[in-house]
Amino acid sequence: MIPENHPRRKSLLLRERLIEGYKRGLVSDEGLIAHGRGEAFDYLIGERTREPAKKAIKAAAAALLLAKNPVISVNGNVAALAAESVAELAKELNCKIEVNLFYRTEDRAGRIEGHLRNAGVEKVLGVKDAYARIPELFSERRKVSVEGIYLADCVLIPLEDGDRCEALVKMGKRTIAIDLNPLSRTARKAHITIVDELTRALPLLIEEVKKLRYKDKAHLKSILKKYNNKKVLEEMRKLINF
Ligand code: ATP
Repeated sequence: MIPENHPRRKSLLLRERLIEGYKRGLVSDEGLIAHGRGEAFDYLIGERTREPAKKAIKAAAAALLLAKNPVISVNGNVAALAAESVAELAKELNCKIEVNLFYRTEDRAGRIEGHLRNAGVEKVLGVKDAYARIPELFSERRKVSVEGIYLADCVLIPLEDGDRCEALVKMGKRTIAIDLNPLSRTARKAHITIVDELTRALPLLIEEVKKLRYKDKAHLKSILKKYNNKKVLEEMRKLINF
């Protein structure tokens, strides 16, 4: 039981959620460690959404609304921490959801599918239909759904690894990352990087999508044109002060 006034309460609750997901077979061993890396960066950014991240969230909303075929890529950590927000965002955007795992097993993919369905997602790609391959990647990491990531023009990749992010960019997809580490390869390779904690960033992204939904395309394009990911990452780096 975590006391209400514990200074790390939110962080500890997230940890509990992740461990629960681990026990249910959604999260891999490596996923627990990756979360620890995220926690360290969240501590440094002050465990709140900073201004540069807000700019990235706005650009991400514009990019997702402009996309013809957007897809949200979901791994074990994302499913365990934020299945409901993923379901809500997908509904708002009318976009697809695909399970894409670094350490893929069919059992884990199936469990994640079940968990997403319980959160209200009707169709989950990438479980039984991962027949296409991302070029330049090897082993299980390269498997994707033709209907999903393979043909997508814009992919939201919360908590992705650098190789796969780079491969998606090379395939010509507009790539939006959510990653607490502004120095990671994913953060530097993606077109838009939201340097914020996943469960804080997704509700803000949903709000931004709702706000921008009725704006015309020219307005959305002008948001993207003004957006500079390098600058935003540099601003985040300065906030952390290294
Ligand atoms: P790269 O290959 O991009 O350089 P990496 O090897 O550091 O990245 P992984 O070990 O795959 O990446 O870790 C996942 C990344 O996700 C880390 O950069 C970590 O900061 C980030 N991360 C972990 N948990 C969260 C979270 N809850 N919200 C946002 N980012 C997170």
